Amino acid sequence: METDNSKLEEQVINVTRSSMPPLDEYIEEIKPLWESHYLTNRGVKHRQLEQQLAEYLKVKNVMLYVNGHNALEGTFETMGLAGEAITTPFTFASTTHSLVRKGLTPVFVDVDPHTFTLDPAKIEAAITPRTSAIVPVHVYGNLCDVDAIQEIADKHGLKVVYDAAHAFGVEKDGVGVGNFGDASILSFHATKVFNTIEGGAVCFKDDTLGAKLSQYRNFGITGVDTVEYVGGNSKLNEFAAAMGICNLRHINDEVAKRRKVFERYLERLEGVSGIQLCHDRSGIKHTYAYMPVIFTDEFGATRDEIFDLLGQHNIFSRKYFYPLTSEFACYKGVLNPGDTPIAHWAADHVLTLPMYADLEPEHVDRICDLILGCAR
Ligand SMILES: *Cc1c(COP(=O)(O)O)cnc(C)c1O
Repeated sequence: METDNSKLEEQVINVTRSSMPPLDEYIEEIKPLWESHYLTNRGVKHRQLEQQLAEYLKVKNVMLYVNGHNALEGTFETMGLAGEAITTPFTFASTTHSLVRKGLTPVFVDVDPHTFTLDPAKIEAAITPRTSAIVPVHVYGNLCDVDAIQEIADKHGLKVVYDAAHAFGVEKDGVGVGNFGDASILSFHATKVFNTIEGGAVCFKDDTLGAKLSQYRNFGITGVDTVEYVGGNSKLNEFAAAMGICNLRHINDEVAKRRKVFERYLERLEGVSGIQLCHDRSGIKHTYAYMPVIFTDEFGATRDEIFDLLGQHNIFSRKYFYPLTSEFACYKGVLNPGDTPIAHWAADHVLTLPMYADLEPEHVDRICDLILGCAR
């Protein structure tokens, strides 16, 4: 027993681990590229992946990008958004940065204490004549209150662009996450539930947006001799698309394995005083992107103490999201941080624990044993 334990102790457990298909499968997938020599610019793999994703995600329109961040920027610029955007500071740098980099002013509104997503009850007070959009985030794959947000957007004539980077494959009553709002951005970064190494996509409602999004993605080139927009370069290459095609074949297995890990954590941590967990909600198909745990003041140790303790045992968790984007040094004195006490509370108390498909139950137990050792 002792040797087993020490072996377990030595192993480093990172917060995430990229999913990869069997090597042979990937090699088969990229072989045709050595015949075609067609490596990017909407190649065969690119078009195939777009089609397969539209099916899997149950959406009409999917457009691939080199990463999720450029999908956000590309969507804002193609839609011509300007002025202010109502958004959350409890997110990854990308959401806020993409707005600022496209000339929009983020207006920070507080989040709901259970889902950590934008609180619709606080949105209307933040709307001004300059507001053009609401940019909410489906944090940890927890769906925003999409109905309430749409109602506010319709009433005030605002666009809704979701950062759905955490919500790949999430569904509400059988409706794919990419169907909400005017557009939803996905990330296929190596650390996400589904990856193309680096990659991303936008799912969008208005069919007529497609051509323009695609042109902005490719330098604003609109014809052989015409360039109508100041576009960038955000195209996904064929090797990345091939990785996506392979990973998508295994996605159901991936999610099922993540679910097992989630359930193991739940078994161990559920009902412990001072621990708050995100639960499956009825009607929601979850894909278990993260394992967030809130350590409240009733728990026997602070979030930071648990982060350190796990680290001493080679277990790497993540303060995600901390700090709030409104607190970033680059925004000090530049952006109004807003009044977001719940987002602050969440950022100070949340820890995301290791979560990936192949995380062994014994490792989950080891993590939980260490945590529970601190319980009052
Ligand atoms: C990962 C992520 C992004 C950015 O996606 P990339 O593909 O890494 O550019 C944006 N927003 C959120 C919330 C994310 O987690």
